[in-house]
Amino acid sequence: MANLRLIITLITVLICLFSSFTKSSNVIKIYLPKSLNLTLSTDPSIISAASHDFGNITTVTPGGVICPSSSADISRLLHYAANGKSTFQVAARGQGHSLNGQASVSGGVIVNMTCLNDVVVSKDKKYADVAAGTLWVDVFKKTAEEGVSPVSWTDYLHITVGGTLSNGGIGGQVFRNGPLISNVLELDVITGKGEVLTCSRQLNPELFYGVLGGLGQFGIITRARIVLDHAPKRAKWFRMLYSDFTTFTKDQERLISMANDIGVDYLEGQIFLSNGVIDTSFFPPSDQSKVADLVKEHGVIYVLEVAKYYDDPNLPIISKVIDTLTKSLSYLPGFISMHDVSYFDFLNRVQVEENKLRSLGLWEVPHPWLNLYVPKSRILDFHNGVIKDILLKQKSASGLALLYPTNRNKWDNRMSAMIPETDEDVIYIIGLLQSATPQNLPEMESVNEEIIRFCKDSGIKIKQYLMHYTRKEDWIEHFGSKWDGFSKRKDLFDPKKLLSPGQDIF
Ligand code: FAD
Repeated sequence: MANLRLIITLITVLICLFSSFTKSSNVIKIYLPKSLNLTLSTDPSIISAASHDFGNITTVTPGGVICPSSSADISRLLHYAANGKSTFQVAARGQGHSLNGQASVSGGVIVNMTCLNDVVVSKDKKYADVAAGTLWVDVFKKTAEEGVSPVSWTDYLHITVGGTLSNGGIGGQVFRNGPLISNVLELDVITGKGEVLTCSRQLNPELFYGVLGGLGQFGIITRARIVLDHAPKRAKWFRMLYSDFTTFTKDQERLISMANDIGVDYLEGQIFLSNGVIDTSFFPPSDQSKVADLVKEHGVIYVLEVAKYYDDPNLPIISKVIDTLTKSLSYLPGFISMHDVSYFDFLNRVQVEENKLRSLGLWEVPHPWLNLYVPKSRILDFHNGVIKDILLKQKSASGLALLYPTNRNKWDNRMSAMIPETDEDVIYIIGLLQSATPQNLPEMESVNEEIIRFCKDSGIKIKQYLMHYTRKEDWIEHFGSKWDGFSKRKDLFDPKKLLSPGQDIF
């Protein structure tokens, strides 16, 4: 009997030592064999940081975090996860600036991609090879030293190259140069099977197109070859106010249609709501109360935001663009303001806001953001139904609302990223970037649901960006005609469904 007990105890100890997955007091422990030569951090502060994201809405606890020193580390990890006796899932994590746990993995391994950061500009300065954990702000700093820069940007630069390429990467240059995923020449990817593959439009194209906008489902990007062009020195940055939505969108659309002509380099738009916080700081102090009064008077004011980059302010094109903006647009007379800033300060403008919010303790709050693409033909219906009938009727609104058009032909439909499946040339990018408190979060989330419901009931064929669905049928609807291809790619590159489970797709 004593012998039997001893044998049982020994077996139990052996199982604990050699299984990849063990649970004790509800905490999942992962065992990585020494031969992998990887350090798995389980320090409570590291686990706690990896359990949360920018959204501050979900908590998902991983079993451990690795900080890879090379892509070979990730390959060994995934090879082991895919072929070991029992499996654990793996999520690449950039800055964790996702909204609903998309970069998380319950009980699995987080790969801290920020450990891999490096930028090498090619000799001809036409591209840079960038390690996927590099922040865009560092890509800028390194490439600008050589007088070059990427051609398309997100509004915020403190996010990683791999994280943004897994989503799409959109901002005010999309109408001209496309989303970030359209400006990539080549990738190194480690698939869910642990294979290390280089891919491009010519080489392993199925993986290349799959990974771009692929929500981390097919592989972990370790290197991206990013298109570069001349880095301008400065930007003339304008904001103009409109009280009429149709006039505002007509001017926006006219400006993006001039992209191949003299045009502006950047175009976005904001919405000021009288029940929200109105940031008038872009306007001279003497005009700020007039702007606030205008919003109160009209309820909604639309802000056209554009920038023209330049090196030499004396070039005739600069005055031509300024003339077009100041003389031919139909903004409210007198309500125009211009800042002349360095190109870097322009690109890094959201960090100024981040610093302000951090100092007020308003950065690390819940962010029930809703990002949408809306076809141009229904933008007025969206405006009336959502901006006027839903948002303006809330007791209060907090955060930023963005609304600007872009050109569909800047997306490559072979990539995984989704935009509305209509044949319209122009689509609108909408960002309802709200901040909440733990108390009013449920209310704000139900407003977002109301918006989605309104679009559905009105037949507005939106697509969400940075979305988080928990029901398979929503994913199938999201990917529409691409769903079959998307799931086939999953079977091909990550058959054990190990990667980025926080997206809740498979
Ligand atoms: P994470 O949130 O860490 O990861 C995102 C997803 O990609 C996860 O599923 C993760 O598993 C996966 N992933 C991460 N790295 C890799 C990799 N190397 N290989 C494969 N999969 C990977 N987005 C825009 O497009 N335009 C904007 O203007 C914009 N502005 C923003 C402003 C702010 C203040 C914030 C917080 C976010 C903004 N975003 C914007 C959203 C941003 O693109 C996402 O947060 C995105 O997820 C990138 O963040 P990240 O690098 O932290 O990636």
